[in-house]
Amino acid sequence: MKLGVAEVFRSLQGEGGDAGVPAVFLRLAGCNLRCRDCDTRYAWEGGEEVPVSLLKERLDALPCRYLVVTGGEPLLQARPLERLVSLLSAWTLTLETNATIWEPRLLGRFHLVTASPKLPSAGVGPFPREVFSKYMDLLPPRLQVKLVVDREDWDEVDRLVDGYPSLGETVPLVIQPVEREENLEDYLSRAREWAETFLERAALWGRKRVRFLPQLHKVLWWGQWGV
Ligand code: SF4
Repeated sequence: MKLGVAEVFRSLQGEGGDAGVPAVFLRLAGCNLRCRDCDTRYAWEGGEEVPVSLLKERLDALPCRYLVVTGGEPLLQARPLERLVSLLSAWTLTLETNATIWEPRLLGRFHLVTASPKLPSAGVGPFPREVFSKYMDLLPPRLQVKLVVDREDWDEVDRLVDGYPSLGETVPLVIQPVEREENLEDYLSRAREWAETFLERAALWGRKRVRFLPQLHKVLWWGQWGV
């Protein structure tokens, strides 16, 4: 059994509630979307076909037991991924998904799932709300939601908060500014602008578990891959 792997590396978790935690990233190849501002286009296709047993050995050789399975869209490789994570009982297992695919048995193996439905600025059309609702209904307390926002997305964020009373309460909500700029200074400038918008909206939402977080790895290592 093999997994299509784009890259494996050790770094800091740059997003979400565990930002700053040392982590091993397993980026799987292949994605079912083509988001306009995707920062991992190199993982859309291809990748190295690695036997699951060999991949486990590679992971175990790294000095860390916190795994982030990401992509691409990792749930496209559900069966071999399930086999891999079944071998990693000593690890804290986390998964990042665009929440267009529902694989309950596999999702149930992760300690934390980050669902990131795509908003209008991604340019991939409306996300499948019935699939996302399964995440919201069935995965807490092991679920967090990450929304990557640009100017045109805030109204949709409002609708999501309105539509899901648990969002920002039992399910933490992380808002992340879109990365579109060509340099760190512009990224931070936009992040500051959206931070102001976030503060205004958060006051209206009145939810306790919401946070605004630029990507830590972008701030530290702008423009580099595999960090
Ligand atoms: S779902 Fe993620 S990996 Fe796929 S195109 Fe969108 S941002 Fe890129």
